[in-house]
Amino acid sequence: MTSFALHGVGVSGGIAIGRAQLVSHATLEVAHYSIAPGNVDAEIARFENALAEVQRELEGLHSAMTSGDAPAEFGAFLDVHWMILTDPTLAEAPKKIIAEQRCNAEWALIQQMNVLVEQFEQIEDTYLRERRAGVVQVVERILKRLLGKPGAVAPGSAEQHTILVAHDLSPADVIQFKRHRYAAFLTDVGGATSHTAIVARSLAVPAVVATHNARTLIRENELLIVDGTHHVVIVNPDKSVLAEYRLKQGELELERARLRRLKSKPATTLDGLEIELHANIELPGDLLQTLGSGATGVGLFRSEFLFLNREGLPSEDEQFEAYRSVAEGMQGKPVTIRTFDLGADKSFAGLDGLVRVAPNPALGLRAVRFCLAEPRLFLTQLRAILRASHYGKVKILVPMLASVGEIDQTLAMIAQAKETLRDQGVPFDSGVPVGGMIEIPAAVLAISSFLERLDFLSIGTNDLIQYTLAVDRADDAVSHLYDPLHPAVLKLIAMAISASNRMRVPIAVCGEMAGEARLTRLLLGLGLRNLSMHPAHLLTVKQCVLTTDVAKGAPIIARLRRTDDPARLAALIDKLNA
Ligand code: PEP
Ligand code: MG
Repeated sequence: MTSFALHGVGVSGGIAIGRAQLVSHATLEVAHYSIAPGNVDAEIARFENALAEVQRELEGLHSAMTSGDAPAEFGAFLDVHWMILTDPTLAEAPKKIIAEQRCNAEWALIQQMNVLVEQFEQIEDTYLRERRAGVVQVVERILKRLLGKPGAVAPGSAEQHTILVAHDLSPADVIQFKRHRYAAFLTDVGGATSHTAIVARSLAVPAVVATHNARTLIRENELLIVDGTHHVVIVNPDKSVLAEYRLKQGELELERARLRRLKSKPATTLDGLEIELHANIELPGDLLQTLGSGATGVGLFRSEFLFLNREGLPSEDEQFEAYRSVAEGMQGKPVTIRTFDLGADKSFAGLDGLVRVAPNPALGLRAVRFCLAEPRLFLTQLRAILRASHYGKVKILVPMLASVGEIDQTLAMIAQAKETLRDQGVPFDSGVPVGGMIEIPAAVLAISSFLERLDFLSIGTNDLIQYTLAVDRADDAVSHLYDPLHPAVLKLIAMAISASNRMRVPIAVCGEMAGEARLTRLLLGLGLRNLSMHPAHLLTVKQCVLTTDVAKGAPIIARLRRTDDPARLAALIDKLNA
């Protein structure tokens, strides 16, 4: 077997060694196993039952729609799903595959889906090509039913040594990996700060995206080394390379053990500044890792992940339980719950079809814009967060604010949510702080109006970079232009921190820049005292804080603030870190 290397963008560091498992995003949870000849009929019946259940599900959605106020597009969307579901290419062909190959229903369905998707891809007509997504969505619906009632043979699994290789994965796909223990994963596409990459980082397994053709070049079960730190994947390594990487793996483990000793040490700089290091989380299940990292709070709970990978919306009670469990779990430490940031790359399965595909989703109805357009959903969430505020130190953080009007409307909605709780005698913290994310250059340039209205700010550098440089964070074709150290980006960050410090309004950074140890001294030098990052990065950043003398670095920072020359900027950052 020939050995070769693939390069991409490492979005989560570390080294993994394991066997490739090729996946398309609908096959993530799908096992492949054989059916005994005597069980083939039962397997076909299992498939038919799943189809019937999905038909009932679509009928139910249809009648809910006609009695509710859903837009007309939703009806058209359901009709398309119905057509696909009842077409013999999907309703009949998999039964033949089960009988001929004696394989499980899920596997037969996936094979047929791949055939159909390929056919669609060869069609010139863009409208018809888009129907391909419909086929995948319908298959996912059927799969969900099948997986809810697995067949007699439980799929075996050796996930710990399995490396997933996919063309593309959505954030919703990756979040499911939290329930599994894959060794690493690779994708052909994706940007370094896409939400997919961010969730990958939170799994604390190596990941490399933008490999361009890993999915076509790598074969099932081939041996892979994934080095997320050095952005490389080695396929079929020879013995000496393998031995070298095993050694490196051991060294990394030792380094991690050394860092773990810093867990309870306060993050204080050499010149005595106390720094808050908070954690970013996606789900309540991340709490264990957060507590293990020694985080002094949750600086960003990306609540929208409660809305992904499910049918329907989480109810107020369900959300309340999730927020309460985090608030209580953090034992009095602050928990910053970001109101849901859906749209753009986080599509919203619970509202299938309600969120139309925007011509430019990153600039469309995303985050607070979506919340304000769907006040009922927003109020439900605000009530749930407020109720949880009774059980811990909860703060509300609003994403993607651009203008005063949005702040005022949001504050009015919070006041309304409080009013309804008061009327019902439900306890909550009436002084719950409300903060805004600084993710759009306009917010920095008009920051005084933000500072007047909000209790705290948090800079979302992932989006701030995307919107400042007009570079889609999820598009690997422009990932070389996505530059956290662009002078314009640094100027905006510096401006936001200085203005907040002047007005004594607490400000944090919760984008990926906060978790990059190479930038810790820079951020501290700019006046930042609160950084929120994925727990896996926290101790590395803490180690940097402990060895930083902010006062000593001030002259370098002053020079850095004056330059627009990228090479000089990079040299000054190196000097700061020397
Ligand atoms: C950001 O934009 O930096 C941020 C923290 O929010 P998200 O990555 O979820 O968009
Ligand atoms: Mg953001």
